[in-house]
Amino acid sequence: MTQDLIILIVEIAAAVGAAGGLGYWFTRKPKTPPAAPEPPPSLNRTLRSTRDSFWGKIQRSLSGSIDTNQLEIIEEILYTSDLGPTTVAKLLDSVEDQLSRQDKKSLDMLKTSLKGEVNSILTAVPKMGQSPFLNFESSAKPQVWMIVGVNGVGKTTTIGKLAHVAASKGAKVLVAAGDTFRAAAQSQLRAWSERAQVEIFAPEGVKDPGAVAFDAVQMAKARNYDLVLIDTAGRLHTQDNLMEELKKVKRVIQKLDPQAPHETLIVLDANSGQNALVQAQKFHETLKLSGAIFTKMDGTAKGGVVLGLASQLQLPTVFLGVGESMDALTGFSPQEYTEALFEA
Ligand code: GDP
Repeated sequence: MTQDLIILIVEIAAAVGAAGGLGYWFTRKPKTPPAAPEPPPSLNRTLRSTRDSFWGKIQRSLSGSIDTNQLEIIEEILYTSDLGPTTVAKLLDSVEDQLSRQDKKSLDMLKTSLKGEVNSILTAVPKMGQSPFLNFESSAKPQVWMIVGVNGVGKTTTIGKLAHVAASKGAKVLVAAGDTFRAAAQSQLRAWSERAQVEIFAPEGVKDPGAVAFDAVQMAKARNYDLVLIDTAGRLHTQDNLMEELKKVKRVIQKLDPQAPHETLIVLDANSGQNALVQAQKFHETLKLSGAIFTKMDGTAKGGVVLGLASQLQLPTVFLGVGESMDALTGFSPQEYTEALFEA
């Protein structure tokens, strides 16, 4: 389809949609600007349970000065704290090395040494904590973000939150309903787009996610959108089917813009701990992810998984989901995270 034809169809759909006829296909953006987001809860509060199961547990298990026996206790706690064996080995090596140089080893020394290692694991990852929104205004339009992840992790909710943040920064946002596999996905995404007051591209009856993504990006180029958020399927008949489909979506978008997708972000449920790392690895192998968004950080004791992801896959975490509301998304800061893991 030529670009002119697409524009014509979009204009007609928008006009008819405004009159109620095709509202299901193309939701027109309301005139009133969206409200600025409410500040999310502090990371320190969000990570309370994680802190308690990590540093809190270490503190409670040790007393006085630290000897070799107690290092075994630390090792045990670390291995049960969802960091993953690679990360635990790095932390232990560093702690043992630093403490071996001290005659009298205290809890404070242990804390300083663990904090230092956590911080260096995180900051060694390029773009760690750097919000993709940072380069947003100066970047080529439209920025295309492909959002991937298995069903139930909070992908739809996160797309709604991202759309809301971008719209409240003044961006013209288009959400593309690329999960054509799940019947409920489109209506759920529509509800979130309405809440975030952004437009959605969800052609009824189109089963090919590549076609949805292609048409959405083409429309966004023609109509000068700033950001396209592409939702994708999270479960097909087999893992291989899913990966093939996602690869195809990526290829198809690249026909319109070889730089796209500018971000390929995986949404992971922090509660799934080590399983989240397995998911990230699979998607990374196929799609070369640019970063991760951990949801449900509120209330979980498994927030250490952020560190595991950095250490095992060298993938940056860019946002954290900290609740169910539209405003409950926060940028990730390695320093803030490190502080929150250790300090109440
Ligand atoms: P999807 O299947 O991956 O699209 O998942 P949904 O977006 O439908 O979310 C699944 C459930 O997780 C819903 O009940 C959401 O409200 C909830 N959820 C999503 N993100 C968060 C979060 O950051 N914190 C909490 N507490 N719940 C969340």
